[in-house]
Amino acid sequence: MAKPKGKTPSLLSKSTGTPTLHVCGKATACKRCNTKIKTGEQCFRIPKQQNGFAAKPTFCISCTRLIVEKTKSDILAVEQLFPAIEAR
Ligand SMILES: [Zn+2]
Repeated sequence: MAKPKGKTPSLLSKSTGTPTLHVCGKATACKRCNTKIKTGEQCFRIPKQQNGFAAKPTFCISCTRLIVEKTKSDILAVEQLFPAIEAR
């Protein structure tokens, strides 16, 4: 995996759906780190609303893992708000 650009995005802000496992039909560059994903290799597609269209950019496994981790911590941060609200 090459060095990804920018900070790790979260699915909460970057996606309009669930990432799906995909077998690369033709060599594609990872949308985030630009690593070449070869034909037949596994990758993820993360749906994204773009100009009214549902685009499905391709991500390598490593980038998807980081994005999912980031999403988890974002969700955790929201979850931590609930006890304070319920305590009122
Ligand atoms: Zn990548």
